[in-house]
Amino acid sequence: MADLWIDGTATAGSGGRRTVTDPASGEAVDQVSEATTEDVDAAVAAAAEAFTSWRRVDVADRAGHLRALSAAVEGAAGDLVGLLTREQGKPTLEAQGELRHFLGGLRYYAEAATKVRGTYQELPGQFGPAYGLVVRRPLGVVGAITPWNFPLTLLGNKLGPALAAGNTVVAKPAETTPLTTLAVARLAAEAGLPPGVLNVVTGGPATGEALAAHPGVRRVAFTGQTATGRRVMEVAGPALKHVSLELGGSDPTIVLADADLDAAVKNVQIGRYWNCGQACLAPKRAFVQAEVYDAFVEQLAGRVGRYEPGPGSTRAEKPRLRIGPLHTAAQRDLLVAQLADAVDRGAKVVVGGEAADGPGHFFSPAVVVDAPPDSRLATEEVFGPVLPVWRVDDLDEAIARANDTAYGLGSSIWTRDAVAIDRATRELEAGVTWVNQLHYGYDELPFGGTRQSGLGREHGLEALAEYTEAKSVVVGGLSQ
Ligand code: NAD
Repeated sequence: MADLWIDGTATAGSGGRRTVTDPASGEAVDQVSEATTEDVDAAVAAAAEAFTSWRRVDVADRAGHLRALSAAVEGAAGDLVGLLTREQGKPTLEAQGELRHFLGGLRYYAEAATKVRGTYQELPGQFGPAYGLVVRRPLGVVGAITPWNFPLTLLGNKLGPALAAGNTVVAKPAETTPLTTLAVARLAAEAGLPPGVLNVVTGGPATGEALAAHPGVRRVAFTGQTATGRRVMEVAGPALKHVSLELGGSDPTIVLADADLDAAVKNVQIGRYWNCGQACLAPKRAFVQAEVYDAFVEQLAGRVGRYEPGPGSTRAEKPRLRIGPLHTAAQRDLLVAQLADAVDRGAKVVVGGEAADGPGHFFSPAVVVDAPPDSRLATEEVFGPVLPVWRVDDLDEAIARANDTAYGLGSSIWTRDAVAIDRATRELEAGVTWVNQLHYGYDELPFGGTRQSGLGREHGLEALAEYTEAKSVVVGGLSQ
């Protein structure tokens, strides 16, 4: 049984218990506490107390703590990967990839911790000679609320810059994937992170809302659905907290006639079907120029047909490829409804599209053509392994249709035409445009959305800036 993690100690919590189940089998993996508002109060109080000393810890030592945590996580990699597969459902290979990404993020911010810089400013001397400094200070307690699709990397995106900059953290993992986050907190304590610097409260929306609204929390770093993000902003707003929102997306990918088609097909396949299609930055709508449309659909369908849905802990026999289950029955049912809406209105399923009978929320990955532009596959975020592909005549049509969405997270284009690349990078409404590249979140580059995909940025030095605030210092009285 897993407890809350508060002030460096496992704590039973004052609420009920929630069972975490394996999406591949429906079997119970563990039980966790459902944190109450009193538990959230205790976690925030521990983080606030720890902040008074953590902010003064030498920056090189803070970086050392991040390195020690990454070493401890690496040492426990086998157990963590197994736990991630059991609570989330993803295949072992993908869980290993997620763990590597998590480690990469922690190490990036261990390096970046010593790179925070302020500025010097000459000042007019109307009140006597003086100069200005702009220094950057940590904010305080950060509430880090994460979803279930990448429980480790999305925690790391917040933990790395928050701790590097001198903040303390109360993490609230998704109610269906709390176990790896709790395991990381325990490893952090064993690796010497001072008590209270990282706390974990487990539970559902009520726990998340108590954290986002808590007067002791100065910054809320949220990743999840757009509708939840709006609610988080509402409850965090009255106290004027710093808020970052990493929300849903419906990324377009554009494939032009001159593209390296093999590379485009392979990377669209990986991007769309990785994690059983449950990735915010997956290409979710494909616009392919008429000249290569048939070849693209045929090649993609051929590759997608090789997937074999099954438990993430087992491998498929070559040349089949393992794809894990959808995370919950609700996710599967939503996907089935979105696909049925398109098919009822004339779309054709080229391959896949079948939900299996339980146990396990398995679904055979699909490629769909001729979905109406106002169908749910086109207008909603599709959080599962289904890709609608549309034929377009030229770049103008592709960009117009790519931008015809409420979202604006990622986007990509496949072409070698420099003029087309220049237009796409300027005109696609998104936080990222990948050119001839996989949709992937690099630690080194800021990542985040525009429009309904969110506010603020994670990754890169930009994220470090979001965990500090500028303070101006005016220094006078020093002239002789
Ligand atoms: P979700 O919004 O349902 O839940 C996310 C987290 O918020 C969970 O921990 C949940 O318990 C908590 N929560 C729920 N209601 C809350 C409330 N009222 N106040 C505070 N916290 C609350 O999201 P999900 O279904 O777990 O995740 C999938 C979504 O996340 C998709 O839309 C996906 O695109 C998005 N996502 C975005 C990014 C990004 O970087 N932009 C990354 C991964 C996932």
